[in-house]
Amino acid sequence: MADDSYKGYRGEALSTLKNFDALVWSDVEIKTANGKYIGIILPRSETADPNHIVLKLRSGYNVGIAARKIEDIQINGRNEAHYKIPEKAFPYDPKKPNVKLLGTGGTIASRLDYRTGAVIPAFTPGELYGSVPELADICNLDTEKLYGVFSENMGPEQWIGTAQAIGREIEKGIQGIVIGHGTDTMHHTAAILSFMVQNSPVPIVMVGSQRSSDRPSSDAALNLQHSVKTAAESDIAEIMVCMFGPTSDIYGLLHRGTRVRKMHSSYRSTFRTIGDIPIAMVSTEKIIPIRQDYKRRRSDKNVVINTAFEEQVSIVYYYPNMKPDIIDSLIDNNYKGIVIAGTGLGHVNKPLYPSLKRAKEKGIAVYMTVQTLWGYVQMYVYDTGRDMMELGVIPGANMLPEVGYMKLGWALGQTNDLEKVREIMMTPIAGEITERETSNGYLIFQGGIPEVEEFISKYRK
Ligand code: ASP
Repeated sequence: MADDSYKGYRGEALSTLKNFDALVWSDVEIKTANGKYIGIILPRSETADPNHIVLKLRSGYNVGIAARKIEDIQINGRNEAHYKIPEKAFPYDPKKPNVKLLGTGGTIASRLDYRTGAVIPAFTPGELYGSVPELADICNLDTEKLYGVFSENMGPEQWIGTAQAIGREIEKGIQGIVIGHGTDTMHHTAAILSFMVQNSPVPIVMVGSQRSSDRPSSDAALNLQHSVKTAAESDIAEIMVCMFGPTSDIYGLLHRGTRVRKMHSSYRSTFRTIGDIPIAMVSTEKIIPIRQDYKRRRSDKNVVINTAFEEQVSIVYYYPNMKPDIIDSLIDNNYKGIVIAGTGLGHVNKPLYPSLKRAKEKGIAVYMTVQTLWGYVQMYVYDTGRDMMELGVIPGANMLPEVGYMKLGWALGQTNDLEKVREIMMTPIAGEITERETSNGYLIFQGGIPEVEEFISKYRK
């Protein structure tokens, strides 16, 4: 290990560490003119800059400290991280249901990369059992790494590949599917899978984690247990997202794939059902449905996989004073579909009208959704709405903008006939359009319940 004592450090950073005999993995207190930092010195990548020392703080965050600002390093111990999780064969019990975990990447499949101090995708079946052995109490788990990407890099190729993998697994008789996915775009993938995978006989549960599993506050293990339990035992045969319900680790929520959205950049309870209520609550003990109108598990294999997707579709998030060139550039670049996230009930300003008219004349499908997220597009209320309908803009009911985008890509992938596209768009397939919002749906589980109140009171002065 001698060579790795200062792994990756060069230049000024290396000489500072040597000065204080502070080896990589030392548990230290670093004093600088700006204050004190307590944590563990992480190794660096060979390509990292020579001026900074990287410290993993107790909070789990990594900071780079400029070597020249360091006045003192006090060494309190050494704490070498072992990133190799022991690989163990997953036990097989013929009495337990068979579940397949398909990995696409994201934080849930990540550990800290000691070379860079960054979170990188890594996924092997044995590691999973090694780190969450409770999974073996629930089912026989088989895993397959489809992709290893952070979810901003998911796209049609991966959506289609995932839908096809689901089809293959159902064909082979699997009893439940879990899809590990980065949280950032999990709701996009949940939406497109809700259209590409029809009539699934088994639960298909998407899961991620907001904090990587090397951090004490990680939600990875619990989310995995909840999602695997849902896939193995629940009778909900839908595409769902399974993530923390409240801010603490009490239960998970199962959200319908077309009504869910990532709503907080860092909370573990980031996923919320929008314009509706979640399907169920899940704990390590039980699954409690909150509604009854979900599709039930069946024993056939009659899933329908339809992976059509037209990539020339865009979402335009309207803002006041938007100029028509935004719409014009989509027209000039041969886009076939535009989903607008309009203000209020579904509005844009008058200067865009001529461009919207041009879009219609060029046969581009233009759908309106609302950037309020909650509520319906209503284009009969104000003149703006009526004018826009005359220009060919079609109200998209209460489809979420990202869901509208996915559905329009899917519809245009199947046909260029705009009447047929409209029929596909406006016929609810997987709860993406509902007749009404439930009266108790608005921001449910986001306040007014004991654990949330307790959490808020900790910070209230
Ligand atoms: N950037 C990550 C991703 O979406 C975040 C996560 O997994 O939570 O892939």
